[in-house]
Amino acid sequence: MSEMKKLNEGAAYAHATIGNPALYSGKAFLRDALALTGTEISFGTLEPGQEVPFFHSHKGNEEVYIILSGDGRFQVGEEVFAIAPGSVVRVSTGAPRNLRNTSDAAMTYICIQAREGSLEACTADDAVITDTPSRL
Ligand code: ZN
Repeated sequence: MSEMKKLNEGAAYAHATIGNPALYSGKAFLRDALALTGTEISFGTLEPGQEVPFFHSHKGNEEVYIILSGDGRFQVGEEVFAIAPGSVVRVSTGAPRNLRNTSDAAMTYICIQAREGSLEACTADDAVITDTPSRL
């Protein structure tokens, strides 16, 4: 089981790490470490042949699963489809879902929860280019 570590924070940011995602094992939620207010983000892993031990749905949040490693299957309601590294799956509220690792290696994924229907602006509609001097 890996551990998430908070590295540093400022008035307007928080920085944590799970270490190398390829070596990560377990389940870690980032909301508390990063003081998230609009999303919940978690890292999860499934061993070969393992699936999440329960189906679940959400009342108000949509979820996006991003598969980083491992091949497997994803089920939403009665529908099943293949997933692989690079797969991105959005699941609406009220839909039971689960995923299984069918590969010989560990499956690592990120799950992002956000209030369904809450995105009012993004990218160019929400971003403001600033004249901050770079210190990178
Ligand atoms: Zn969920």
